[in-house]
Amino acid sequence: MPPTNRRPRTVDTSMHFCPHLGCDYCGWPGLNNLRANGHPSGGPWRQLHCTACDGYFPEHHGTIFHGKQAAVELIVWVLACLAEGLGIRATARVFEVAPHTVLQWLVEAAEQLRAFSRYFLCDVHVEQLQLDELYVVLRALKAGEIGEDEAIQRLERSPSWVWTAMAPESKLLLVIDVGTRTLAMAQRIVHQVTRVLAPGCIPLFLTDGLKDYATALLTHFGYWRQPERRQDKGPRPKPRWMPRPELLYAQVVKSYRRRRIVGVTHRVVFGSRLAIEQMLARWGWTINTAFVERLNLDIRQRVAAIGRRVNTLCQGEAGLRDQLTLFQVYHNFVLPHASLRQRLPLPEVTNGNGSAKVWRPCTPAMAAGLTDHVWSLKEVLLYRVPPWPRLQTV
Ligand SMILES: [Zn+2]
Repeated sequence: MPPTNRRPRTVDTSMHFCPHLGCDYCGWPGLNNLRANGHPSGGPWRQLHCTACDGYFPEHHGTIFHGKQAAVELIVWVLACLAEGLGIRATARVFEVAPHTVLQWLVEAAEQLRAFSRYFLCDVHVEQLQLDELYVVLRALKAGEIGEDEAIQRLERSPSWVWTAMAPESKLLLVIDVGTRTLAMAQRIVHQVTRVLAPGCIPLFLTDGLKDYATALLTHFGYWRQPERRQDKGPRPKPRWMPRPELLYAQVVKSYRRRRIVGVTHRVVFGSRLAIEQMLARWGWTINTAFVERLNLDIRQRVAAIGRRVNTLCQGEAGLRDQLTLFQVYHNFVLPHASLRQRLPLPEVTNGNGSAKVWRPCTPAMAAGLTDHVWSLKEVLLYRVPPWPRLQTV
């Protein structure tokens, strides 16, 4: 839609899209078809007008704030507390809201955050990936309000594992999920990794000694190869499923005695040791899984359901998955990472009498080239994720 030649609009509507299904512009942002109309009956939200279908909608349409009485700031603070690792009950006490309201907001936010991650975490180029599993104890719902069956379930304390895949260069957390420590789960994690990576990108993989990773990696990064015929006559040999020649994979195997590490060995599974060491030497690293282990520490601190033996709500698998989704977006887009900060070309003078700013904060998503700024949690929650795949930008 061509811009009108009236005075330039001051409200930027390029991130919004028309939600009306019959409209030709439905779901497409940045097409210049929206006009901001001000705040109906003095409310906090602007009304937007679509000049294509002549429809109206509020600017928070489709976000978790739509149709809520509670103040935006309250919902953002509650979710920020959860993201920082305070339990659901503790957060509910701080803000004097019901624990179930907090849980409800988390569930709704998780849906938004999953869509947000799907939209931004795509076509990722990485050179290395570290994968790991973290042991957690999932307990059933809070004491007192559970039935007999659930009490039995709680006694069983079904063990579960949090699986992660992170890129050490950018600290980007590509995949986080919860499940058993089985081949099926390893396959699921590697499959999720391939969906996030750019086509043709095969990074160097480093994991612990779990053998199921090798099978899962071979499944996803293999190809059929026709072996050479040994004799002139006879049937052709059957094609074999082989790892791609570019695939590099090594394991860091730790042996324990009485919970103490007594030895670390490196096992090269796919590719050559020389190729792996050359790849790592570019960063000054050796074969290790230290980065993903450091991430596990962050998870223990920031996801209350894992970190402490407190009576937190939402300890089923679905509830934990919601908390992990919040952790993933918070880690990737909101929290600047100290080791990623960039020196400013010129120090910026700050207001007041503080010293000049010399560092530019940087999040893993910025380091991976997925976004150009540090997001606030409010910004993430207010972002209207378009229903269409992301358009390729320069
Ligand atoms: Zn429209």
